Amino acid sequence: MSTRRQFIKQAALGTGGLLLSTSVLANAFSPRRKKVIIIGAGFAGLMAGYELYKKKIDFEILEARNRIGGRVHSHNIGRQNFVVELGAEWVGADHPVLIGLCDHFGLKLEDNTFSTQAIYNGTHYRDVKQLTDHNWEQKLTGILDRYKHMEPHAQEALDRKLDKTDWWRYLLENGCPERDLELRDLIDSTDFGESIRGVSALAAVDEYSSDKLSTHNQMDLKIKGGNSSLALALSKLFADKIRMGTKVERVVQTTKPAGKVKVYCSDGYVAEGDKLICTAPAFAVSKIKWEPELPAGMQMALQGLEYARINKNAILYRERFWERDDFDMITDMPGHYFYHATKNQTSLTDAGVLISYTIGDKAAVIASQQDDERVDLADQSLKTAFPYTKSLAGDQLDYYWGNDKYSRGAYAVYGKGQWFDLFPKLNAPHIHTHFAGEHLSEPWGGFMEGALETGRDAAGKI
Ligand SMILES: Cc1cc2nc3c(=O)[nH]c(=O)nc-3n(C[C@H](O)[C@H](O)[C@H](O)COP(=O)(O)OP(=O)(O)OC[C@H]3O[C@@H](n4cnc5c(N)ncnc54)[C@H](O)[C@@H]3O)c2cc1C
Repeated sequence: MSTRRQFIKQAALGTGGLLLSTSVLANAFSPRRKKVIIIGAGFAGLMAGYELYKKKIDFEILEARNRIGGRVHSHNIGRQNFVVELGAEWVGADHPVLIGLCDHFGLKLEDNTFSTQAIYNGTHYRDVKQLTDHNWEQKLTGILDRYKHMEPHAQEALDRKLDKTDWWRYLLENGCPERDLELRDLIDSTDFGESIRGVSALAAVDEYSSDKLSTHNQMDLKIKGGNSSLALALSKLFADKIRMGTKVERVVQTTKPAGKVKVYCSDGYVAEGDKLICTAPAFAVSKIKWEPELPAGMQMALQGLEYARINKNAILYRERFWERDDFDMITDMPGHYFYHATKNQTSLTDAGVLISYTIGDKAAVIASQQDDERVDLADQSLKTAFPYTKSLAGDQLDYYWGNDKYSRGAYAVYGKGQWFDLFPKLNAPHIHTHFAGEHLSEPWGGFMEGALETGRDAAGKI
């Protein structure tokens, strides 16, 4: 177990213990039924609701959008009604909470692995591995292996050093050849959602060194019919407890005479409860007026935490010119990364959808184009391998998470020096409030699994 995990566990235990004792005291003196308010009906909020539902604790979920699921956002495209994911796509083989829920609700998980091709420097490679330096790959495997087997104390000292540098520089300093460095930036940046020049080396070493069942870097599975099916299955159990189109604007917490939470919403609605679970992303938490104020350290951490800029551009093509069902491709072109978004979905025609997944500055550029310009950019990006994509393009969907009203990004990216500094501040409770959401998960930050486990754990602290 890494020291980073121990460190977080200790921090969580310390603060969780404090909160537990207040609720034990409150329960002892009040015969009244307790009520929990939950902000957000994304995976963290729905999971918190599910745990409370099972424990028969009263709760209410307030959701700003007119839909559930948050950053899990399955959408239909074309006459064929293909389902594509505008938010979270892959379920990892190492994600037991999500896999367990799918099993429980009878949701089928389908294979969603790909066999990666590349366009690099004007050449098409049928296997991206043709581009990588074998000796370097072996060296990196050795570095990650040594890290994994370090004594906890030595690892903690190294973690603090790693957190002060970025993944790109770390690779460079360890002798990564130029071409591999460029490739790693192209490939790993799709994991982190920003260039690896801005990602803490600790986050990357931790991610790539841990023992895993997944053979495809957690890009293993997908829920049949769309990942939103899980949000729907959870919400059906307690649909009457979810209030949508209700943005929380102000939270007032009192301690005397009895502990209380009052939540004021944009539509005039006021919810009252004993505890609050806030699953909003950092940006949205900072926009709520908290009375009493959030601690200064937490306010600064909320401002400092960055979220990945990801754009997903789904284009429906009349023909699946990419031929393979498990097609995906990394490119050094504006479209960055393409994958077959209708794998396992058949139609009477040969039509199918490719998603261009762009990150960082590229995402912002693609997002600001018109539909026909995006088709042109995809065509330019793919033409080394597929010369005629433009004439096959039809319907299109585009979602830029960098501009999303509530998250202002796809998921949290802890930058250089941020892990040890920001995480404990963001994860600490505030009076009657526990915080949850993917940004507070270790080790599954950035994943649906992280959202689910933090939602479950927050409910467990009530
Ligand atoms: C493009 C993209 C690709 C991704 N790819 C993957 C992937 O392949 N695999 C994977 O596992 N994960 C992936 N993720 C990450 C995954 O989607 C998230 O980790 C997870 O869905 C976050 O859930 P959450 O509950 O923490 O937050 P959210 O889903 O953001 O839920 C928070 C909810 O709170 C609501 N809210 C915010 N402010 C307020 C307010 N003031 N009042 C009331 N409600 C409010 C929001 O509307 C939202 O519904 C991806 C995400 C994106 C965007």
